[in-house]
Order: sequence, then structure tokens, then C-alpha cells
Amino acid sequence: MTTITSKTEDSPKKSGSLFRLFKGYFRPHLSWFVGGTIFAILTSAFATGYTLILGIMGDRLQSTFGDTAGASSPTWIIWVAGAIVGLTIGRAITLYLMTVFNNTGVQRALVDIQNAQYVSLNRGDYARLAGDASGRFVSRFINDVNSIRDAGLRFANNFTKSVVTVFGLLVVMLWTDWQLTLLLLVVYPIAFGPVIGLGNRIRKRSKTAQRQIGEVTALLSEGFQSSRIVKAYGLEAYKEEKANQGFIQRSRLFLKVLTDRAAVDPILEVTGGVALAGILGFAAFRISNGAATLGDLLRIIGALAIASPELRALGTLNAVAQEGGAAADRVFEVVDAVPSIADKEDAQDIAAVKGDLSFQDVVFDYPDGTQALKGLSFHVQAGETVAFVGPSGAGKSTIFNLILRLYDAGRGHISLDGTDIREVKADSLRLKTAIVSQDTALFDDTISANIELGRLGSDADAIQAAAGAANADGFIRELPDGYESEVGEMGRNLSGGQRQRVALARAILRDAPILLLDEATSALDAESEAKVQDALVEFTKNRTTLIIAHRLSTVRAADRIIVLDDGRAVESGTHDELMALDSVYKKLVEAQLN
Ligand code: ATP
Repeated sequence: MTTITSKTEDSPKKSGSLFRLFKGYFRPHLSWFVGGTIFAILTSAFATGYTLILGIMGDRLQSTFGDTAGASSPTWIIWVAGAIVGLTIGRAITLYLMTVFNNTGVQRALVDIQNAQYVSLNRGDYARLAGDASGRFVSRFINDVNSIRDAGLRFANNFTKSVVTVFGLLVVMLWTDWQLTLLLLVVYPIAFGPVIGLGNRIRKRSKTAQRQIGEVTALLSEGFQSSRIVKAYGLEAYKEEKANQGFIQRSRLFLKVLTDRAAVDPILEVTGGVALAGILGFAAFRISNGAATLGDLLRIIGALAIASPELRALGTLNAVAQEGGAAADRVFEVVDAVPSIADKEDAQDIAAVKGDLSFQDVVFDYPDGTQALKGLSFHVQAGETVAFVGPSGAGKSTIFNLILRLYDAGRGHISLDGTDIREVKADSLRLKTAIVSQDTALFDDTISANIELGRLGSDADAIQAAAGAANADGFIRELPDGYESEVGEMGRNLSGGQRQRVALARAILRDAPILLLDEATSALDAESEAKVQDALVEFTKNRTTLIIAHRLSTVRAADRIIVLDDGRAVESGTHDELMALDSVYKKLVEAQLN
């Protein structure tokens, strides 16, 4: 399921995406392509030069056969050979430079394209990222960008060179024998009709194929990420079968594209053959009549021989461009997606926050329609520590999602120090919060770098102090590389409890006025948790702290406990107050004790 909403998806203006791609991403690097074009023109000039030399050679040969004196003075042969070598070297050098210039331009454009995609995803709605497999997004960066690279390079390296070469050769041919050339001009375009038709089909099919690569990438990354469970449950055969199905489907889709592509060359080959046969017959007839010379024939055959591959390249260029166009469509699907959570035009940074937080009759449904909050109201005073408890699915984590403005409430108000959080810049709001969740989100870097993400630019002392407060300093120092130890992808080199303490240190370093702890200590053993709790007592003083924890011993010390059920707050009070009543909370505690 793809949840990206976009302006261009399935829009009828698909043919415009290649042009947009050029205008937006290739044009800023035009100087490289201008350089490439100059060398392409020179390459074409050298190619045209060949045919002129061939013509001279033909005429000389013809006169030599009729003049025995000429045969004894063959200095022209040396000149011809020298000119051919010179042209070859000139063509080789300009071809090389053309390729280098164009490659540089294309690579730079690709960096911009990838940046645009990444920024759009990174800054766009959380709902979009949460709603699709990460592998599908990765595929857009690898496969779609590859297709655009192929199309860009082919276009840059072939288009000007082929067009100018063919044009130059056409002039030579018209000058040599205009009747023959006109004959050719009638034959060749007939070949391009089916080639263009094929190109359109290739575009549609390659779009489907590229989308399917996303499925396979998602399948693979999911499989490798959960390799522990796959092995533990003996699911290897099951995963292999699913992967196999994906590979088969992928190869079927690609085979269709490749089959279409394979038809392009033979069509052009046949047309070329028919044209050559006609020309040879016509030319031979004219030479025998004395209307043309051997030089003319050689010039025309030379021109045809050089023009044919260029024309063929132009023919297949359409197919490659269509594949690039399909990829460009997908790139713009990402780039054009309009975030639903956007700052209002007049939004300001949120002022220094005391931390007075209030939910008033908040109703919220997830994009798939799940009703998570059904009229939730509560008030947390600045500096208070409030714990949310309640059955699974009651809406606890959703509260945090809304405070961070990962989603906006459908109805009701959420305010911080009396200001509706939709009125301020989301980035500035998030700067005032620090979250630790069960998903610790450690990145593949050192422990020190992971903690520093809480407040970029912090020095080693601050990082170590934060780790100390999170009861992490001890275990970190025992690691062979200490703070410089690599945590591995998703922090997999650390234990669950260690990961949580590093994540907590990151939040402590952030020193934000609002602290959100979502099962932040669930992976710790009782002793470590007690130590972390002690450290947190100091840290959470004068700081609004919201805690979600299933382990009710974790929330006892909170200033207040709010019990949620089915998206509403049903009870509120201290542990003792709630235990004194016949409360839902009391039942939860008793159930846990039992
Ligand atoms: P738990 O204690 O199990 O973590 P919770 O109280 O934190 O549960 P939430 O995660 O807030 O509950 O979920 C509230 C409701 O919203 C549930 O019905 C859940 O299925 C749904 N929900 C949560 N996240 C999403 C999402 N990204 N998309 C759709 N529905 C969601």
C-alpha cells in the first residue's frame, strides 16, 4: 500500500515530468552540458570529415585506375591515411571529453534530485513515513535514480552527437547526390512510427516494474531486519518462498520491458538494410550511367555507415527516455507531496515554555480511520509529573504524537502555556520537548554521537554528565571503546536496557522543558530501573514530565496518574488517592500484583 498523496500521481500531465526534471534539476548544471555539447559537435564534425576523405579517396582511385601515371605517384594515399588517423584521434579525444562533461553534469543533477526527495520525505508528514514500508522509500533512491541516470547519460551523450552527426552527414549526402538522399529521407521516418509506439508502452511497463522493485526492497529489508525471529521461528523456507515470488514477479515485469526494448534495434536494423540495398542499387545504376562517381558512392556509403548507429541510438533513446520519464513521475510523486501538517503563514516560534499543558475535548482519528482519542481532556501544570496508564490501545502514545505535532488533532484544542500548538511553528515546539520511547532509535554511529543528537554541538563533559544521569556511564566505560563504541544498525550491538539508557541520556542532554517518557525504562531490570528513577527525580524537578508505562511500579511516584480508557480520561489522582477508591487503576494494580 502506498500512502503518498501527491499532486502529480495519476495526473494526465505525465509527459511533462521529463521537461520538469530538465528544468528543475539539469538546467542548474547547464555549463557542464554546454561543454559536453561543444565536444559533441566537434565529435560529429570529425565523423563527417571521414566521409569527405572517403569521397576524395574514391575519386582519386577512379582517376588512378584510368591514369597509369597516377599509380606511380601515390603520395595522396599517405595524405588520406594521415587524415584518417588525425580524425580518429580528434574524435576519440572529443568523445572522451564530451562523456566526462556530461557525466559530471548528470551526477550533480542526481545529487539534487536525491536531496529533493529526501528533504520532502524527511520534512513531510510523519503519517506518510509511518504508513509505508521503509524499503519502498529506499527503492526510490536507488532504482528510480538509476533509471534517471541512464536516461540522463544517454540523452546527454547521444542526443546532440547523434543529431548533429546525422545532420552533418545529411548535408554531405545532399551535396553529393540529392535525389538519392531524398529517397533515404522517405524510407527512414517510416521506421520511427513503431519505435515511438514501443517507447510509450515501455514507459507504462517500466513504471509498474519500478514500483514492484519497491515491494521487493521492502520485503528484503523487512526479512533481514527481523532475521533473529526468522531463525528462531524456523521461518527461512517461508521467507524464501515470499522472496522467490517477489523475484519471479520482478523478472516477469522486467522481461516485458526488455522484450519491448529488444524490438527497437531489429526494427531499425531492417529499415537500415532495406535503405542500404536500395541505395546501392540506385547508386550503381547512376555510376554506370556516368551520373555519379565512385567518390560519390563511397561518400554516401560512408555517411550511411556512420549515420546508422547514430540513428539507431536516437531510436532507442526514446525507450530509455520513457523509462527515465516513468522514474521522474515517481520522483515527483514524492517531491510534490503536500504535507498536511504545515505551519500557518503567520506562525511564530513558541516562546520560552513553562510547560503548562492542556488537552480540551480532543478527538483524533488516524489516517486509516482508527478512532484513537474520543474527546480527551486533561490539564498538566508546569513542572508536574503525570503518568498515563490504561489498557493497550487506550490512546496513550497517541497523546505524545499529538503533543509533538506528528499529527494534528481533528477536533478540540491542545495548548501549551495557553497557546494552541497549531498556532506556533512545529519545529520550535519540538525543540521544547525530549522524548524517549520504547523504539530507542539509535543510529549506526558511536555512543557519544548518538547521545549528542539530543543537543548537537555538546562537548564530551556534557555528554558524559547526561549518560551519568541516565545510569549509562558505568556500562559505557566498560565497553572496549568506551564512548566511541559503535552501536550498530538500530543499536543492535547493545542490550535492550543499554539502548534505553543511551536514549535516555540523549533526552537528558536535550534539557527540554517537557519530557515525554513512553515505556522509557521497560527494558531495564528492577535494579537499573530504580537507579534511573532516582536520577530522573532530580532531572524532572521543575520540568513537565509525562510518563507512559505498563509496569505500574514505574508510575507510583508520579504527582498524578491519569487513567485512560478507549480514548478518554476516566480517572485522575495520585497513586494513594486512586488506590483508596474502587478505581480502574486499583484493579489494574491488583491485576499486575496477581
Ligand atoms: P499501548 O499501550 O499498546 O502502546 P496505547 O494506549 O499507547 O497502546 P495508541 O498507540 O495510542 O495506544 O493507539 C490508540 C489506537 O490507535 C489503537 O487502536 C491503535 O491501534 C491505533 N493506532 C496507533 N497508531 C496508529 C497508526 N499509526 N495508524 C493507525 N492506527 C493507529
